[in-house]
Amino acid sequence: MVTQVSSSRHAPWEISQESDTLRKAGLKVTLPRVKILGVLAGREREHLTAEEVYQRLQAAGEDLGLATVYRVLTQFQEAQIVLRHHFVGDRAVFELNSGIDHDHVVCVDCGRVDEFKDRTVERRLTDVAAVSGYEALGHSLVVYGRCPECAQSPRSATPLV
Ligand SMILES: [Zn+2]
Ligand SMILES: [Zn+2]
Repeated sequence: MVTQVSSSRHAPWEISQESDTLRKAGLKVTLPRVKILGVLAGREREHLTAEEVYQRLQAAGEDLGLATVYRVLTQFQEAQIVLRHHFVGDRAVFELNSGIDHDHVVCVDCGRVDEFKDRTVERRLTDVAAVSGYEALGHSLVVYGRCPECAQSPRSATPLV
């Protein structure tokens, strides 16, 4: 049996799915960018702060500084491969821009973010815009509340909103 040996001079991380995404966005493929994109492109759709991205990298043994994480996330945002949200206070969270529009439910106590998609709500918003003579192109909807965990514990004295 013949084993195909890649003749590519690229390091393994340069031929990952993350590196593809970077190239398509017109960004140079660098190790920090691949690693940070990898965190955001995890198994579950997540909305992470820069600090959380940094902590995950640390936990995985990656030696990237918080300043680098901030800088790369800003580059990603400019290249539109991630979205930045300010749901509660000045806490910014980032998520992969998958092109699928969805809405968010946010916990005012802990900042947890969940996603939802509701066709009825979307239709209503289109109708609402039409009443004012607008053709709806998109929307952004955030429902604020308390997540199941926070609902069970005593109310925090200072909600994030
Ligand atoms: Zn909560
Ligand atoms: Zn989201």
